[in-house]
Amino acid sequence: MMKTTLYSLKPYEKPFLQQANKDQEIICHSRPLSEYTVTLAEGCEAVCCFVADTLDKTVLAKLSNMGIRLIALRSAGYDHVDMHAARELKLTVCNVPQYSPASIAEFSIAMILSLTRHMIEADQRIKQYNFLLDGLLGFDLKNKTVGIIGTGFIGSAFCRILSGFGCQILAYDVITSDDCVSNGADYVSLNELYKKSDIISLHCPLNESTHHLINQDTINKMKKGVMIINTSRGGVIDTAALIAGLESGQIGAAGLDVYENEGAIFYKEFSHKQFQDEMYKKLEGFDNVLLSAHQAYFTADALSNIFKTTINNITAFEKGQVIHKVE
Ligand code: NAD
Repeated sequence: MMKTTLYSLKPYEKPFLQQANKDQEIICHSRPLSEYTVTLAEGCEAVCCFVADTLDKTVLAKLSNMGIRLIALRSAGYDHVDMHAARELKLTVCNVPQYSPASIAEFSIAMILSLTRHMIEADQRIKQYNFLLDGLLGFDLKNKTVGIIGTGFIGSAFCRILSGFGCQILAYDVITSDDCVSNGADYVSLNELYKKSDIISLHCPLNESTHHLINQDTINKMKKGVMIINTSRGGVIDTAALIAGLESGQIGAAGLDVYENEGAIFYKEFSHKQFQDEMYKKLEGFDNVLLSAHQAYFTADALSNIFKTTINNITAFEKGQVIHKVE
Protein backbone atom coordinates (compact mmCIF):
# COMPACT_ATOMS: atom_id res chain seq x y z
CA MET A 1 0.00 0.00 0.00
CA MET A 2 1.14 3.53 -0.83
CA LYS A 3 2.26 5.64 2.14
CA THR A 4 1.84 9.42 2.35
CA THR A 5 3.59 11.95 4.57
CA LEU A 6 1.31 14.84 5.42
CA TYR A 7 3.05 18.10 6.44
CA SER A 8 1.81 21.17 8.35
CA LEU A 9 -1.13 19.40 9.99
CA LYS A 10 -2.93 21.77 12.35
CA PRO A 11 -5.01 20.49 15.31
CA TYR A 12 -8.18 21.93 13.72
CA GLU A 13 -7.61 19.84 10.59
CA LYS A 14 -7.39 16.47 12.39
CA PRO A 15 -11.17 15.74 12.63
CA PHE A 16 -11.61 16.52 8.93
CA LEU A 17 -8.73 14.22 7.99
CA GLN A 18 -10.10 11.44 10.20
CA GLN A 19 -13.58 11.86 8.71
CA ALA A 20 -12.28 11.73 5.12
CA ASN A 21 -9.64 9.03 5.44
CA LYS A 22 -10.77 5.44 5.74
CA ASP A 23 -8.03 3.44 4.00
CA GLN A 24 -4.94 5.51 3.27
CA GLU A 25 -1.76 5.18 5.35
CA ILE A 26 -0.94 8.77 6.20
CA ILE A 27 1.91 9.79 8.48
CA CYS A 28 1.13 13.22 9.88
CA HIS A 29 3.54 15.95 10.95
CA SER A 30 2.76 19.41 12.30
CA ARG A 31 6.06 20.70 10.92
CA PRO A 32 6.04 22.32 7.48
CA LEU A 33 7.89 20.79 4.55
CA SER A 34 11.30 22.38 4.03
CA GLU A 35 14.78 21.16 3.17
CA TYR A 36 15.19 20.40 6.90
CA THR A 37 12.07 18.22 7.19
CA VAL A 38 12.12 16.59 3.78
CA THR A 39 13.58 13.32 5.15
CA LEU A 40 10.42 12.79 7.22
CA ALA A 41 8.93 11.52 3.95
CA GLU A 42 11.48 8.71 3.66
CA GLY A 43 9.77 5.44 2.66
CA CYS A 44 6.66 7.17 1.28
CA GLU A 45 5.51 7.67 -2.31
CA ALA A 46 3.37 10.77 -1.72
CA VAL A 47 3.53 13.98 0.29
CA CYS A 48 0.51 16.09 1.20
CA CYS A 49 1.16 19.81 1.58
CA PHE A 50 -0.49 23.19 2.23
CA VAL A 51 0.36 26.75 1.21
CA ALA A 52 3.14 27.39 3.75
CA ASP A 53 5.14 24.30 2.73
CA THR A 54 8.28 24.83 0.67
CA LEU A 55 8.11 23.11 -2.70
CA ASP A 56 11.05 24.73 -4.46
CA LYS A 57 13.52 23.05 -6.78
CA THR A 58 15.82 21.84 -3.97
CA VAL A 59 13.02 20.28 -1.93
CA LEU A 60 11.37 18.71 -5.00
CA ALA A 61 14.69 17.18 -6.10
CA LYS A 62 15.20 15.69 -2.63
CA LEU A 63 11.65 14.32 -2.60
CA SER A 64 12.14 12.80 -6.03
CA ASN A 65 15.44 11.18 -4.98
CA MET A 66 13.66 9.61 -2.03
CA GLY A 67 11.07 8.01 -4.33
CA ILE A 68 8.19 10.49 -3.92
CA ARG A 69 5.94 10.48 -7.00
CA LEU A 70 2.89 12.46 -5.90
CA ILE A 71 2.53 15.93 -4.37
CA ALA A 72 -1.06 16.13 -3.14
CA LEU A 73 -1.78 19.78 -2.39
CA ARG A 74 -4.50 20.66 0.10
CA SER A 75 -4.97 24.01 -1.69
CA ALA A 76 -6.44 25.34 -4.93
CA GLY A 77 -3.45 27.67 -5.54
CA TYR A 78 -0.15 26.08 -6.59
CA ASP A 79 2.04 29.18 -7.01
CA HIS A 80 4.25 27.88 -4.15
CA VAL A 81 5.27 24.85 -6.24
CA ASP A 82 8.13 25.12 -8.73
CA MET A 83 6.08 23.50 -11.49
CA HIS A 84 8.96 23.63 -13.96
CA ALA A 85 11.10 21.52 -11.60
CA ALA A 86 8.15 19.22 -10.80
CA ARG A 87 7.61 18.52 -14.52
CA GLU A 88 11.33 17.87 -15.08
CA LEU A 89 11.41 15.47 -12.13
CA LYS A 90 8.20 13.77 -13.38
CA LEU A 91 6.44 14.45 -10.08
CA THR A 92 2.64 14.47 -10.31
CA VAL A 93 1.07 17.49 -8.61
CA CYS A 94 -2.65 17.46 -7.71
CA ASN A 95 -4.63 20.31 -6.16
CA VAL A 96 -8.12 20.80 -4.75
CA PRO A 97 -9.93 23.11 -7.12
CA GLN A 98 -13.29 24.58 -6.20
CA TYR A 99 -13.39 23.16 -2.64
CA SER A 100 -15.59 26.03 -1.56
CA PRO A 101 -15.52 29.15 -3.74
CA ALA A 102 -18.26 30.50 -1.44
CA SER A 103 -15.91 30.51 1.57
CA ILE A 104 -13.46 32.93 -0.08
CA ALA A 105 -16.16 34.94 -1.87
CA GLU A 106 -18.12 35.44 1.37
CA PHE A 107 -14.96 36.40 3.25
CA SER A 108 -14.19 39.04 0.61
CA ILE A 109 -17.69 40.47 1.08
CA ALA A 110 -17.16 40.40 4.87
CA MET A 111 -13.97 42.43 4.40
CA ILE A 112 -15.75 44.97 2.21
CA LEU A 113 -18.63 45.45 4.65
CA SER A 114 -16.30 45.59 7.66
CA LEU A 115 -14.35 48.37 5.95
CA THR A 116 -17.28 50.33 4.46
CA ARG A 117 -19.17 50.29 7.79
CA HIS A 118 -16.15 50.45 10.19
CA MET A 119 -17.35 47.35 12.03
CA ILE A 120 -14.07 46.66 13.84
CA GLU A 121 -13.70 50.21 15.19
CA ALA A 122 -17.39 50.28 16.18
CA ASP A 123 -17.01 47.10 18.21
CA GLN A 124 -13.74 48.25 19.81
CA ARG A 125 -15.28 51.58 20.83
CA ILE A 126 -18.39 50.07 22.32
CA LYS A 127 -16.29 47.69 24.38
CA GLN A 128 -14.75 50.86 25.87
CA TYR A 129 -18.28 52.28 26.44
CA ASN A 130 -17.81 54.89 23.71
CA PHE A 131 -21.14 55.09 21.88
CA LEU A 132 -20.29 58.08 19.64
CA LEU A 133 -20.66 57.66 15.87
CA ASP A 134 -18.02 60.27 14.93
CA GLY A 135 -15.55 58.81 12.43
CA LEU A 136 -17.75 55.80 11.62
CA LEU A 137 -19.51 57.29 8.57
CA GLY A 138 -19.81 54.62 5.90
CA PHE A 139 -21.13 54.36 2.37
CA ASP A 140 -23.76 52.19 0.64
CA LEU A 141 -22.64 49.38 -1.64
CA LYS A 142 -25.75 49.86 -3.77
CA ASN A 143 -24.89 51.66 -7.02
CA LYS A 144 -21.14 51.55 -6.31
CA THR A 145 -18.86 50.13 -8.99
CA VAL A 146 -16.95 47.00 -8.03
CA GLY A 147 -14.17 45.66 -10.28
CA ILE A 148 -13.37 41.93 -10.16
CA ILE A 149 -10.00 40.79 -11.48
CA GLY A 150 -10.14 37.04 -12.15
CA THR A 151 -13.59 35.52 -12.65
CA GLY A 152 -12.95 31.80 -12.15
CA PHE A 153 -14.74 29.83 -9.44
CA ILE A 154 -14.17 32.36 -6.66
CA GLY A 155 -14.55 35.55 -8.74
CA SER A 156 -17.84 34.19 -10.15
CA ALA A 157 -19.16 33.31 -6.67
CA PHE A 158 -18.17 36.80 -5.49
CA CYS A 159 -19.96 38.36 -8.50
CA ARG A 160 -23.13 36.35 -7.74
CA ILE A 161 -23.25 37.75 -4.17
CA LEU A 162 -22.44 41.30 -5.28
CA SER A 163 -25.28 41.33 -7.79
CA GLY A 164 -27.66 41.10 -4.81
CA PHE A 165 -26.26 44.35 -3.39
CA GLY A 166 -27.21 46.28 -6.53
CA CYS A 167 -23.61 47.12 -7.45
CA GLN A 168 -22.36 47.96 -10.94
CA ILE A 169 -19.96 45.10 -11.65
CA LEU A 170 -16.94 45.37 -13.92
CA ALA A 171 -14.84 42.31 -14.64
CA TYR A 172 -11.49 41.50 -16.16
CA ASP A 173 -10.20 38.03 -17.00
CA VAL A 174 -8.50 36.35 -19.91
CA ILE A 175 -11.61 34.10 -20.11
CA THR A 176 -15.20 35.40 -19.90
CA SER A 177 -17.44 33.69 -17.32
CA ASP A 178 -21.02 33.24 -18.56
CA ASP A 179 -22.10 33.08 -14.93
CA CYS A 180 -20.66 36.55 -14.28
CA VAL A 181 -22.25 37.96 -17.43
CA SER A 182 -25.63 36.57 -16.38
CA ASN A 183 -25.12 38.21 -12.98
CA GLY A 184 -24.67 41.59 -14.63
CA ALA A 185 -20.88 41.89 -14.96
CA ASP A 186 -19.50 43.95 -17.82
CA TYR A 187 -16.13 42.72 -19.10
CA VAL A 188 -13.85 45.72 -19.67
CA SER A 189 -10.14 46.38 -20.10
CA LEU A 190 -8.00 46.53 -16.97
CA ASN A 191 -7.49 50.26 -17.52
CA GLU A 192 -11.24 50.89 -17.58
CA LEU A 193 -11.72 48.72 -14.50
CA TYR A 194 -9.02 50.69 -12.63
CA LYS A 195 -10.48 54.03 -13.73
CA LYS A 196 -14.12 53.34 -12.80
CA SER A 197 -14.09 51.03 -9.77
CA ASP A 198 -14.84 52.21 -6.22
CA ILE A 199 -13.77 48.79 -4.96
CA ILE A 200 -11.38 46.35 -6.65
CA SER A 201 -11.32 42.71 -5.56
CA LEU A 202 -8.57 40.33 -6.69
CA HIS A 203 -9.45 36.71 -7.53
CA CYS A 204 -6.78 35.74 -10.05
CA PRO A 205 -3.97 33.23 -9.37
CA LEU A 206 -0.40 34.39 -8.80
CA ASN A 207 1.56 33.75 -11.97
CA GLU A 208 3.99 35.63 -14.21
CA SER A 209 1.18 37.72 -15.67
CA THR A 210 -0.28 38.73 -12.30
CA HIS A 211 2.86 39.24 -10.18
CA HIS A 212 2.69 42.84 -8.87
CA LEU A 213 -0.31 43.54 -11.11
CA ILE A 214 -1.22 46.14 -8.50
CA ASN A 215 1.80 48.45 -8.52
CA GLN A 216 2.55 52.16 -8.41
CA ASP A 217 1.52 52.67 -12.06
CA THR A 218 -1.75 50.78 -11.82
CA ILE A 219 -2.59 52.37 -8.45
CA ASN A 220 -2.18 55.80 -10.10
CA LYS A 221 -4.81 54.80 -12.69
CA MET A 222 -7.39 54.05 -9.97
CA LYS A 223 -10.08 56.32 -8.55
CA LYS A 224 -8.83 58.36 -5.59
CA GLY A 225 -9.93 56.62 -2.39
CA VAL A 226 -10.40 53.20 -4.02
CA MET A 227 -10.79 50.16 -1.76
CA ILE A 228 -8.63 47.14 -2.63
CA ILE A 229 -9.52 43.64 -1.44
CA ASN A 230 -7.00 40.83 -1.84
CA THR A 231 -7.96 37.26 -0.99
CA SER A 232 -5.99 35.82 -3.93
CA ARG A 233 -2.23 35.79 -3.35
CA GLY A 234 0.02 38.38 -1.73
CA GLY A 235 2.37 38.61 -4.71
CA VAL A 236 -0.39 40.07 -6.91
CA ILE A 237 0.18 43.32 -5.02
CA ASP A 238 3.45 45.26 -4.73
CA THR A 239 3.05 45.88 -1.01
CA ALA A 240 5.45 48.85 -0.92
CA ALA A 241 3.37 50.58 -3.62
CA LEU A 242 0.18 49.77 -1.71
CA ILE A 243 1.62 51.34 1.44
CA ALA A 244 2.61 54.46 -0.53
CA GLY A 245 -0.93 54.61 -1.97
CA LEU A 246 -2.44 54.34 1.52
CA GLU A 247 -0.11 57.06 2.82
CA SER A 248 -1.01 59.46 0.00
CA GLY A 249 -4.77 58.75 0.27
CA GLN A 250 -4.91 57.44 -3.31
CA ILE A 251 -6.03 54.16 -1.71
CA GLY A 252 -8.89 54.73 0.73
CA ALA A 253 -8.92 51.28 2.33
CA ALA A 254 -7.56 47.78 1.91
CA GLY A 255 -8.66 44.33 3.03
CA LEU A 256 -5.75 41.91 2.84
CA ASP A 257 -6.08 38.21 3.59
CA VAL A 258 -2.78 37.44 1.90
CA TYR A 259 0.63 39.10 1.94
CA GLU A 260 3.60 38.69 -0.37
CA ASN A 261 5.99 37.63 2.42
CA GLU A 262 3.39 35.64 4.35
CA GLY A 263 5.44 32.40 4.21
CA ALA A 264 7.63 33.60 7.08
CA ILE A 265 4.81 34.74 9.38
CA PHE A 266 1.37 33.27 8.68
CA TYR A 267 0.16 30.24 10.64
CA LYS A 268 2.80 31.03 13.29
CA GLU A 269 2.51 32.67 16.69
CA PHE A 270 4.65 35.71 17.55
CA SER A 271 3.09 36.90 20.79
CA HIS A 272 6.20 35.95 22.78
CA LYS A 273 8.74 36.50 20.00
CA GLN A 274 10.14 39.53 18.25
CA PHE A 275 8.06 40.30 15.15
CA GLN A 276 10.47 41.65 12.57
CA ASP A 277 8.54 42.13 9.33
CA GLU A 278 8.71 45.92 9.04
CA MET A 279 6.48 46.10 5.94
CA TYR A 280 3.71 44.13 7.62
CA LYS A 281 4.07 46.29 10.74
CA LYS A 282 3.39 49.32 8.52
CA LEU A 283 0.20 47.74 7.15
CA GLU A 284 -0.89 46.92 10.67
CA GLY A 285 -0.56 50.59 11.60
CA PHE A 286 -3.29 51.84 9.21
CA ASP A 287 -6.83 52.19 10.63
CA ASN A 288 -8.24 51.74 7.13
CA VAL A 289 -6.48 48.41 6.54
CA LEU A 290 -8.12 45.17 7.61
CA LEU A 291 -5.76 42.21 7.89
CA SER A 292 -6.22 38.47 8.25
CA ALA A 293 -3.75 35.61 7.94
CA HIS A 294 -4.81 33.61 4.85
CA GLN A 295 -8.10 32.76 6.50
CA ALA A 296 -10.61 33.30 3.69
CA TYR A 297 -10.86 29.57 2.94
CA PHE A 298 -11.20 28.64 6.62
CA THR A 299 -14.72 27.22 7.04
CA ALA A 300 -15.83 23.77 8.15
CA ASP A 301 -17.40 23.23 4.72
CA ALA A 302 -14.16 24.06 2.95
CA LEU A 303 -11.97 21.91 5.24
CA SER A 304 -14.33 18.97 4.82
CA ASN A 305 -14.16 19.26 1.02
CA ILE A 306 -10.38 19.81 1.03
CA PHE A 307 -9.74 16.56 2.92
CA LYS A 308 -12.32 14.53 0.94
CA THR A 309 -10.80 15.61 -2.37
CA THR A 310 -7.22 15.20 -1.14
CA ILE A 311 -7.89 11.61 -0.06
CA ASN A 312 -9.63 10.96 -3.41
CA ASN A 313 -6.62 12.39 -5.24
CA ILE A 314 -4.23 10.10 -3.32
CA THR A 315 -6.48 7.03 -3.73
CA ALA A 316 -6.89 7.63 -7.47
CA PHE A 317 -3.11 7.98 -7.89
CA GLU A 318 -2.58 4.72 -6.05
CA LYS A 319 -4.95 3.07 -8.56
CA GLY A 320 -2.98 4.50 -11.48
CA GLN A 321 -5.40 7.34 -12.26
CA VAL A 322 -4.68 11.04 -11.89
CA ILE A 323 -7.41 13.50 -10.95
CA HIS A 324 -7.07 17.25 -10.40
CA LYS A 325 -3.62 17.24 -11.96
CA VAL A 326 -1.86 20.60 -12.05
CA GLU A 327 -0.25 20.94 -15.47
P1 NAD B 1 -9.79 29.65 -10.93
O1 NAD B 1 -8.68 28.99 -11.66
O2 NAD B 1 -11.17 29.07 -11.02
O3 NAD B 1 -9.90 31.18 -11.40
C1 NAD B 1 -8.81 32.01 -11.62
C2 NAD B 1 -9.20 32.95 -12.75
O4 NAD B 1 -8.15 33.90 -12.90
C3 NAD B 1 -9.36 32.21 -14.11
O5 NAD B 1 -10.61 32.53 -14.68
C4 NAD B 1 -8.19 32.73 -14.93
O6 NAD B 1 -8.49 32.84 -16.31
C5 NAD B 1 -7.98 34.10 -14.29
N1 NAD B 1 -6.68 34.68 -14.61
C6 NAD B 1 -5.49 34.06 -14.86
N2 NAD B 1 -4.57 34.96 -15.18
C7 NAD B 1 -5.18 36.18 -15.15
C8 NAD B 1 -4.75 37.51 -15.40
N3 NAD B 1 -3.50 37.77 -15.76
N4 NAD B 1 -5.65 38.51 -15.24
C9 NAD B 1 -6.92 38.26 -14.89
N5 NAD B 1 -7.40 37.01 -14.65
C10 NAD B 1 -6.53 35.99 -14.76
O7 NAD B 1 -9.32 29.76 -9.43
P2 NAD B 1 -10.21 30.08 -8.14
O8 NAD B 1 -10.61 28.81 -7.49
O9 NAD B 1 -11.24 31.09 -8.48
O10 NAD B 1 -9.09 30.73 -7.19
C11 NAD B 1 -8.47 31.96 -7.52
C12 NAD B 1 -7.29 32.18 -6.61
O11 NAD B 1 -7.75 32.41 -5.29
C13 NAD B 1 -6.36 30.96 -6.45
O12 NAD B 1 -5.43 30.87 -7.51
C14 NAD B 1 -5.70 31.24 -5.14
O13 NAD B 1 -4.52 31.98 -5.38
C15 NAD B 1 -6.70 32.10 -4.40
N6 NAD B 1 -7.26 31.42 -3.21
C16 NAD B 1 -7.15 32.02 -2.01
C17 NAD B 1 -7.66 31.40 -0.88
C18 NAD B 1 -7.61 32.05 0.49
O14 NAD B 1 -7.90 31.39 1.49
N7 NAD B 1 -7.27 33.32 0.61
C19 NAD B 1 -8.27 30.14 -0.99
C20 NAD B 1 -8.37 29.56 -2.26
C21 NAD B 1 -7.87 30.20 -3.37
